[in-house]
Amino acid sequence: GHRLDMDGVRVRYGQTLAVRDVTLSVEPGEMLALLGPSGCGKTTLLRTVAGFIRAEAGRVLVDGAAIDHLPPGRRGVGIVFQSYALFPHMSAAENVAYGLEARRLPRAEIARKVEAALAAVRMEGFADRRPRALSGGQQQRVALARALAIEPSILLLDEPFAALDRSLRLDLQLEIKRIQRRFGVTAVLVTHDQDEAMSMADRMAVMNAGQVEQVGPPAEVYDRP
Ligand code: ADP
Ligand code: ADP
Repeated sequence: GHRLDMDGVRVRYGQTLAVRDVTLSVEPGEMLALLGPSGCGKTTLLRTVAGFIRAEAGRVLVDGAAIDHLPPGRRGVGIVFQSYALFPHMSAAENVAYGLEARRLPRAEIARKVEAALAAVRMEGFADRRPRALSGGQQQRVALARALAIEPSILLLDEPFAALDRSLRLDLQLEIKRIQRRFGVTAVLVTHDQDEAMSMADRMAVMNAGQVEQVGPPAEVYDRP
C-alpha cells in the first residue's frame, strides 16, 4: 500500500474558501472516510487529491513525494464518482480499457488488465455490454474496474453508492471492502452516510466548513458528544 498526505491544503472558489488548510494522512492500505454535511468541502478535497482542482496552498504527497505538479492521469489515482460516468457508446471492456490506452500499453497487456479488472469486480461475463444494458450496480462495478485497472496507488471514492438502492448499495460496499483489503489499496471514501462510514472505514475524518474537526476510528469519533 501507499501513503497519502494532505499537508495544509487550501482551496478557494472566488470568495468561497472551500477547504481551509487541511492536514490529513492516510496510512498504506487504510480506508479513510471523509464525512460531514453537504457543502463542507469533502468533494473539493477529494478532487484536489485527484488533480482536477488546484490548491491555493499546501501539498498532496504520495509516499512522501509531492504530486501537485502532476496531471490527474499521472498521479496513480483511481476515482469512482457518484454517477457512473461510463462512456455510453463503449462496452464495459472498452470503458475499462480507456484509462490504460492513454498509457500506450501493448494491446495484449491492455486486454489482460481489462480482463483481470472485470474479474475482480465479478463482471467478467459482461465485457461486451454497453452501460445501458447493465443495472446501476453493475455499471458502478464497471466504474470500479476502470479505476482499479490502472493499479492505482490511491483509490478515491466520491459517494460511489449514492445512486444505488439499498440492496445494491450493501452489495457493492462489501465488494469494494473485499477488493480494497485484498489489494491493500489505500482509499479515501467521501460519504454523508454515517452507517456507511462506520461499516467501511478504518478511520473517519469529520469535516465542517472546510476544516477537519475530528479524526479517528469510527467508534472513537462517535463516542464523543
Ligand atoms: P461537499 O462535497 O462536502 O458537499 P463541496 O466540496 O462540493 O462540499 O463544496 C464546498 C464548498 O465549495 C461549498 O460552499 C460549495 O458551494 C463550494 N463549491 C464547490 N464546488 C464549487 C465550484 N465549482 N465553484 C464554486 N463553488 C464551489
Ligand atoms: P456534489 O456534492 O456531488 O459535488 P453538488 O450538487 O454539490 O454535488 O455539485 C455538483 C457540481 O457543481 C460539482 O461539480 C461541484 O463542484 C459544482 N458546484 C457545487 N457548488 C457550486 C457552486 N456554489 N458554484 C458552482 N459550482 C458548484
